[in-house]
Amino acid sequence: MFPTERFKGLQTPFYYYDTALLAETLDVIRRELDDHMHMHYAVKANANPVILRQIAEAGLGADCVSGGEISAALEAGFAPERIVYAGVGKSDWEIRLGLENGIFCFNVESIPELEVINQLASELGRTASVCLRINPNVGAHTHANIQTGLSENKFGIDMQDMEGVIRRCGELAHVKFIGLHFHIGSQIMEMDDFKALSLRINELQDRLEAAGITGIENINVGGGLGIDYKEPDEHPVPDFKTYIDTYRRNLKLRPGQQLHFECGRAVVGQMGSLIARVLYVKENAIKRFCILDAGMTDLIRPALYDAYHKVQNISNECNNNILVYDIVGPVCESSDVFVKNYGMPETKRGDLVALRSAGAYGEIMASHYNCRPLPQAYFDK
Ligand SMILES: *Cc1c(COP(=O)(O)O)cnc(C)c1O
Repeated sequence: MFPTERFKGLQTPFYYYDTALLAETLDVIRRELDDHMHMHYAVKANANPVILRQIAEAGLGADCVSGGEISAALEAGFAPERIVYAGVGKSDWEIRLGLENGIFCFNVESIPELEVINQLASELGRTASVCLRINPNVGAHTHANIQTGLSENKFGIDMQDMEGVIRRCGELAHVKFIGLHFHIGSQIMEMDDFKALSLRINELQDRLEAAGITGIENINVGGGLGIDYKEPDEHPVPDFKTYIDTYRRNLKLRPGQQLHFECGRAVVGQMGSLIARVLYVKENAIKRFCILDAGMTDLIRPALYDAYHKVQNISNECNNNILVYDIVGPVCESSDVFVKNYGMPETKRGDLVALRSAGAYGEIMASHYNCRPLPQAYFDK
């Protein structure tokens, strides 16, 4: 599946993206969405312009978490009325950028932020549409560093403060309250977590109606659908059907309410691999290290969240002599390890390996640490 012949002259490490797989994934998403459902791609997963353009052309919206992402989304052709903007710390220039471009909504995370948006909107003679990001205190079965829906996390407005903040919106002339926003975490494989979020939203909607707050136009359930890092070839396209069905079955939308999703990882995760070259194989009394020319500066997820990426020797796949390696990078940090005690066909200097499922939170998190150059990106066409 990898065009290793084409890779021969290329400087490693680099990202290799399968845009045909992205096209297939986007087709599945569009097929699964009903008319009142909208998918906003979470730009933070991968903002490569080629990828953004393909997603914009498929008609998805964009979920942005910074002014830079809003600019990148606009440049790639996302319609402003399909851009949503979340983030616990929005700077004034970022809010102005969103206002000037007429984005669909600000997902607001606090009263101080709401007041600043109102002030800046009034200065520009505009009205900001806002959804309130509510912290639903729903845990997700995922790594602690990528859980976001618990009260201890910095995100969102506490449930008990919800009515008060909605009323505050009513007092501010330059904000318009248009909905509720949630996001409980990332790499979630348990559909019950999304069910729990749905049930919590049902409770909150009942509570709002009891308080006389009705006519909420939008419910945004965020993203978080996980991908199969263990066996990417068995599940190249995530199970969007079951994911969306979970909401269809459990979330009680009110008549006319629009449902918004914000998937990042599930859209682009499987389309990307980090291609690296084996520099050295070194052994000591207890270990055999496979040292790559790619490191945590190119793909930080293993070092940051203990994440697993399947490693595939793509030069030497027919060799049946399986040996055990610690696969490591060249960066001067002990955490610069991709995977430990990993069984892989015997590998030698010069072989190419693919770190699979690296399309999301890979290239975009690359850094210059150790004065290393950023990895290039290449595409299947
Ligand atoms: C990160 C993020 C997402 C996307 O998460 P995925 O796990 O990549 O789907 C969606 N919404 C918000 C608010 C986010 O911060």
